[in-house]
Amino acid sequence: MSNIFFSFRGRVVINVEALNMVESIGNYVKHRRVPVIVPEKYVTYMVPAISGETIAHGYQVVLAEKALENNLPVCKLCSKGIFLKSTNIDVFNYSFGSTLPNNEFDFEKTIISKCVVEDIGGFLYAAEKRGVKVKNLKRTSNFYVGYMVPVAEALSNVVVEPQLHSRYALGTQFVSREEREARGQMIYYVELSSAPYTFSFDLDTKYIGKTTFTVDKAGTPVVSEEEIKKRKIVALEAFADLLIENMFGAKKTRFLPVVEWESFVVAVSDGVWTVPSPFTNKYIDNALKKKEKIDRNTKLYIYRRNGEKSFEEVLLEAIEDAKKRIMGQ
Ligand SMILES: [Zn+2]
Repeated sequence: MSNIFFSFRGRVVINVEALNMVESIGNYVKHRRVPVIVPEKYVTYMVPAISGETIAHGYQVVLAEKALENNLPVCKLCSKGIFLKSTNIDVFNYSFGSTLPNNEFDFEKTIISKCVVEDIGGFLYAAEKRGVKVKNLKRTSNFYVGYMVPVAEALSNVVVEPQLHSRYALGTQFVSREEREARGQMIYYVELSSAPYTFSFDLDTKYIGKTTFTVDKAGTPVVSEEEIKKRKIVALEAFADLLIENMFGAKKTRFLPVVEWESFVVAVSDGVWTVPSPFTNKYIDNALKKKEKIDRNTKLYIYRRNGEKSFEEVLLEAIEDAKKRIMGQ
């Protein structure tokens, strides 16, 4: 059995973060906010959040690097962290430098064989031009992420706060007397937040290295058995790096947040088995109870901040288990 389902849910306290900004209005940069409803009371709060797209971007940057390190193919754009992902003919030509395949099956095969990021993270192609055989093609991502939101108990306490910063240039030749107010001491605001956030990530390896779009041929391997295993392992190792090195989110050169993991549960299974939502305080118990009822050769790896093992130790144990299953050991 070399297919695995890897499910991660956790709670992470992130202080003074500006990881997901949505727009700037003049000199004011806004943090993303989403509506979240409190269980039982059914009151809605607008709270700071970090989008799944932010996590997916970070993950795919690490994935591209890991793939290249392991001599696996990544297209020209994905290897630079630009995830246009075969969106139209021009992008396809630039990324792969090959002629357009004549049918959907060959089209998907070409992309899978030449780009690990699009194999694992999916793509969406639309031709935009007449006279081509393949007009639309999509591949669903093999990994799943979602919004990081404050946990249930914290919803009513979380705030977003604009912080004032200034760039001081008075007394230099670059600022004239008239400009003093505007440019001599330029001020700007960046919204920051601090919250215990939820974090979710699932990886289903079933279709990695295999076609999906043409129904009667779905599951056809595109690369060798050995390379498929290698791609699955790279997908897992990229996730470990993403978490251990906090490789997601924006504005980190000047707003590097203070990050501390509170708890997490990883489930490694032979079939689909997702860890219950960490939005609820008792999610670890819920996971244990779920495993009593539903078991797909599922093994749980649980981290608690006050436990004996470190965050990295528990995470890497889970990754090791998943790797062994992929290698058929
Ligand atoms: Zn690519």
